Amino acid sequence: MLSNLEQLYQEIILDASKERYGEGLLETPDGESFQVNPTCGDQVTMQVELSEDGEHISEIAWDGHGCSISQASISIMTQMLEGKSLEEADKIFHEFRQMMDARGSEISDETADLLEDASAFQGVSKFPARIKCALLGWMALREATDNALENKENKG
Ligand code: ZN
Repeated sequence: MLSNLEQLYQEIILDASKERYGEGLLETPDGESFQVNPTCGDQVTMQVELSEDGEHISEIAWDGHGCSISQASISIMTQMLEGKSLEEADKIFHEFRQMMDARGSEISDETADLLEDASAFQGVSKFPARIKCALLGWMALREATDNALENKENKG
């Protein structure tokens, strides 16, 4: 039997995997990254546009396919991180990563508040094979953001 919380988490993941928030590609992204999770077959192209000052994520776009966990994670992350400063996005990324590394242990209220719907992946962290699915989009966004910052520097 699943607990109420686990049921709620499953619903959030299922809904997000159908919603696919932010799906579609940009014409002129500042940065881009392509990531594959070979153990499951998930893949994603992640694109990002930064604000003029390079401190905020102004737009995130992606195209990908794979299991519902990977797709839901990308959708939720995109919705959460769009408009955030790189500093905030980095903090949320670290918190998410820490939760996924914690192998199913309970998360604090503070972490749950910070991660919003991404808390739903807490249960996924119990299954080592699925952790990469949940992290795929986050790793891709991180690389796309680094790529965008490099491109901006090169332009001067
Ligand atoms: Zn997967």
